[in-house]
Amino acid sequence: MSEKLSFVNPTPNSPWGTYLQQVDRVVPYLGGLAKWVETLKRPKRALIVDVPIEMDDGRIAHYEGYRVQHNMSRGPGKGGVRFHPDVTLEEVMALSAWMTVKTAAVNLPYGGAKGGIRVDPKKLSLKELEKVTRRYTSEIGIIIGPHTDIPAPDVNTNGQIMAWMMDTYSMNVGGTATGVVTGKPLHLGGSLGRVKATGRGVFVTGREAARRLGLDLRGARIAVQGFGNVGSVAAELFAEAGAIIVAVQDHTGTVVNEKGLDLEKLIPISRTVAGAVSFKGGDVVPNEQFWDVACDILIPAALEGQITAARAKKTSAKLVLEGANGPTVPEADDILAERGVLVVPDVICNAGGVTVSYFEWVQDFSSFFWDEDEINVRLDRIMMNALNHIWDTADKHKITLRTATYAVACERILMARQERGLYP
Ligand code: GLU
Repeated sequence: MSEKLSFVNPTPNSPWGTYLQQVDRVVPYLGGLAKWVETLKRPKRALIVDVPIEMDDGRIAHYEGYRVQHNMSRGPGKGGVRFHPDVTLEEVMALSAWMTVKTAAVNLPYGGAKGGIRVDPKKLSLKELEKVTRRYTSEIGIIIGPHTDIPAPDVNTNGQIMAWMMDTYSMNVGGTATGVVTGKPLHLGGSLGRVKATGRGVFVTGREAARRLGLDLRGARIAVQGFGNVGSVAAELFAEAGAIIVAVQDHTGTVVNEKGLDLEKLIPISRTVAGAVSFKGGDVVPNEQFWDVACDILIPAALEGQITAARAKKTSAKLVLEGANGPTVPEADDILAERGVLVVPDVICNAGGVTVSYFEWVQDFSSFFWDEDEINVRLDRIMMNALNHIWDTADKHKITLRTATYAVACERILMARQERGLYP
C-alpha cells in the first residue's frame, strides 16, 4: 500500500493498480450503471490476522494472514487462499476483485474474495504447515462460512490444506461444515474433476479462441510459464490435441525443446523438489529467454505482472491464455492489442476452477455427488457459453476480450448492487 493508506491509492505497478485501470476501461460501456462503479474500486471488507505458531524447534513464529471480501452483491464471497512469502494485503485485494469479476463473467451466484498468508510453505514441516493453516482458519473464522465466504486452493495450497481448513472451521462451529471450503479431497465432500478444472478451462477457452483465429492446434507451439496445477494440466490437454510444448518455466528455471518436451517424463519430475530444470529432455536456459522462444500460444500460469511491456513487444505468440490471475500489466495489454495478439483474459480463461468449486459446493449442500462426465460436460458448457457471450460483446463494441469480459461481468454486479439498493 502507498504511504497514503487508501483503497484508491495503489502502489505503482501493483496488482491492485492493474485492477483499478482495468475497471476504468470498462466505464464507457456501463451506461447508467456507471454511477455505481466506485463500488468496484474498494473491497467491501479486509481482515488482517496474526498467525502465531510454535515451530518444531520450539521457537514462536508469527505470520501475517489476510482475507479480503471484495464484493458480495451477487452472493457469498468466493476465492482461494495463497501461501507465498511475497503475499501482501494489496495483492490479496486485487485477487479478491478479480474473483468478483470472474464469478460474474461465468454467471456463478457468488461475489469475490481471496485470502493469503505471507509465508513460504516450502520452509515449513508438515506439522508446522498444519498449525499455520488451522490458526489462520480459526482467525478468519469470524468472516467465512458456507453461506458467507468460501475459500479454496490457490498458489501453494491444496486438498490437504482445504481438509484442515474444513476441519478447523467445523470444530469451531461444532458440526461438519463441508461447504465452507472447496477443493477438498474426494472423501470429504470434494468433487470429481476439481483438481484439473482450471487447466481444463484454459484448454476449452484456448481451443475456441484458436479456432476463431484459424490457428490449428495440431503442431501449434506452446510456451507455458508456471507448471503447477494449472499450467501442467493445460499443457497435457493441448498436447493431447496435437500441440507441442516447446518451453516450460517453473520456480526452478526454464527448459526448452523446439521439437517438443516429453510431458509424460517432465510432469512427474516437475513435481519433485528438483523441479523442471532437472528434466533431461530439453535445454535449460536463463529465465528471461523464455519470452524469446518462438511459439504460437503463450500460457502464463504463474503469478501476476509477468507480461510486461518489454515482454509483450517481443513475444512471437498469436494467442495468450491467462491461466494465472493478473499476469499482464495494462501497458502490455495495449501493446499486445496493437500487435494483433489475442488475449483470453484471466477472468474467463481460468474460471474453470471456481466453476467446479461451485459444483462442489452445490453437491455438498445436496449431499448428492455427480460423476466426472457430468462435471466436465457442465463445465465445458458454462465456459463456452460465457466465452461466446463475451466475444459477441467484444465484436459489438470493438473492444478487447478483457474489456468485454469486464463489461459483461460489471453489468451483472452493478445491476445487483442497484437492485439491492444501499443500506441503510
Ligand atoms: N484460486 C482459484 C482462482 O483463482 C479458484 C478459486 C475457487 O475455486 O474459489 O480462481
